[in-house]
Amino acid sequence: MKYIIMDLEWNGATTSEGYFNEIIEIGAVAMDDSMNVTGEFQSFVNPKHTKKLRGRIKELTHITNEDLKNAGRFISVFNRLKEWIGSAEDNCMLSWGNADITVLYENLERYHMLDEIFVIKHYCDAQLLCQKAVGISLAKQVGLSAFAEMIEVIPGEDQLHRAIGDSRLTARCVAKLFTPELYKEFAKKADRVFYDRMNFKSYCIQDLNDERIKQSRFMTECPECHVYLKRMTRYTCRNKKHYARYRCGLCAREYNISHLFKMTYDGLEHRCTAIPVSTGLNAGENETEPLAQQSDENVPSEQTTDE
Ligand SMILES: [Zn+2]
Repeated sequence: MKYIIMDLEWNGATTSEGYFNEIIEIGAVAMDDSMNVTGEFQSFVNPKHTKKLRGRIKELTHITNEDLKNAGRFISVFNRLKEWIGSAEDNCMLSWGNADITVLYENLERYHMLDEIFVIKHYCDAQLLCQKAVGISLAKQVGLSAFAEMIEVIPGEDQLHRAIGDSRLTARCVAKLFTPELYKEFAKKADRVFYDRMNFKSYCIQDLNDERIKQSRFMTECPECHVYLKRMTRYTCRNKKHYARYRCGLCAREYNISHLFKMTYDGLEHRCTAIPVSTGLNAGENETEPLAQQSDENVPSEQTTDE
C-alpha cells in the first residue's frame, strides 16, 4: 500500500457559479507500509478565479500573489499529482480532517474532471485515526499543530499552514501512531458512494405534513404509564424543532414534546424530547438534552429526572 498524506491550501473565490474554495497549493508526502517517506509533492496553483489572495490567507500561509502567478493551472498541477501518485499499486490518501478531500472534489468538479478523483483508491481521515490512537474523543476537533505538540512530534523547519509543511507534519503524526487495526477502522474505499456520502448536506424538514414523515412519529407514550399521550396544542416551530403540549389521559401529567426531523445520507433521523411540564414555563423553555435519538420507528420511553 502506498500512503499519500495530502494537504491543500485554498482561497475563497466568488464566481458566476457561486462561492468556490479554489486550491492554491497542493502538498503531499508518500509513505510505504513501514511508514518510511518515499517521496514528496509540492506545487502552487495559479488560480483562475482568485484575482487576489484574501488578507487572512496571505497572513496565515505566507503565500504571495507572485508565488501563484508563476505556477501552473489546476488541471496541469493535478495531472502532475496524479502521475506522482501513480497507478501501479494500491493507495490510500490521508488528510487531517476531511476538508481537504472535500475541496479537492470541489475543484475537480469545477473543471469537469471528477472521474480523475478515482486515482485515489482509499481514503482515511488522519485526524480520526490519530485522535483515536491517543484516546481523544472523535467528537472533538484537535488542530494539527496542537495535536503534534501533544504527542511530541516536532514541526522542525516546516512552515505551518502551508500545504507541504502540514502534510509532512501529518505524515509524522500518522507514522508515530499508525497501527493496522486503526487503519482498518478508519480507511474507506474511495468509491462513488464514499463521495456521495461526503457531499451530502444534512437538512431539517420543516413541514410536518412532508410525506417522508410518518404520522406514527408523533405518537408519544407517557414515560410513566406507557399509554399514548394526547396532544393539547398546535405545533409551533422554533429553531427547526416542532413543539407541542401533550397530556397523559391516565396520570394527567403534561409534557412539552419536541420533534426534530433531519434528513441524512442514511435516511430520516428523528429526535424526540419529552420534558415534564412545570408551572409557568412555555413549551420548549425548559428543554434539556434529547431523551432518545432514533432513526426508525416511534418515540422516547424515558423521562428526565430533574423536575
Ligand atoms: Zn401517564
